[in-house]
This record gives sequence, structure tokens and C-alpha cells, in this order.
Amino acid sequence: MPKKRETKTDTRRAIVDEIAELADRAVFGTISETYRTCGRASCSCHTTGPKHGPHMYISYRGEGKTTGYYVPVAAQEEVRAGVAAWQAVQQRLRELAELNRQAIITRAKDARGK
Ligand SMILES: [Zn+2]
Repeated sequence: MPKKRETKTDTRRAIVDEIAELADRAVFGTISETYRTCGRASCSCHTTGPKHGPHMYISYRGEGKTTGYYVPVAAQEEVRAGVAAWQAVQQRLRELAELNRQAIITRAKDARGK
């Protein structure tokens, strides 16, 4: 059944290509939105008024502790897409790993059958 095997290889190739594309723009971290007080002491955000925001904040675990950064407004759309790409690449990598596992086991069984 060489035809079936060809299809599987094509599927793996497509996933590898997709992973490369996703990895190219992946951003690691969890998005949250925060509200902050500003530097103007007279601003109502320090008393009764609403705080400023939302500000996009990315948190992630690095060097054993959680850290993060605020994202400038101009970069928010790209960062949001990058975080989605990171999540998508994890999923595609799992799918690829499963296909790899199947291929390895199938090859081992074929080799034993000869
Ligand atoms: Zn303020």
C-alpha cells in the first residue's frame, strides 16, 4: 500500500510547514488586561474615577519565576496573534508527534515482518 504511505508523508510535510509558519510569529505568554493609576496626582483615577486601561499585559514563566511586560498599543494586534500562534503550534506539534509515533511503530512492525 505505497499510496497510503505517500498520503501520510504529505500530511506530515504540510504540518511541518504549518509549524514553521506559526513558529515564525509565535509569542510566548498569557495575555491579561490590567487597569492602572497614572502619574498625575490630581487625576480622578486616584480617587473616585475609573482607572486607566485596559492595558495589555503578557505574563510568562522564565528562570523559575513569573515575569511579564506591558504591550504598546501599536503592537497589541500582532502580539495577540502571536500568542494564538504559540497555542496553535503546540497543537500541531502534538499531531505531528502522533503521526511520527505511528510511522515509527509501523516501520518497526514492517521490518520485523520481513
Ligand atoms: Zn489617571
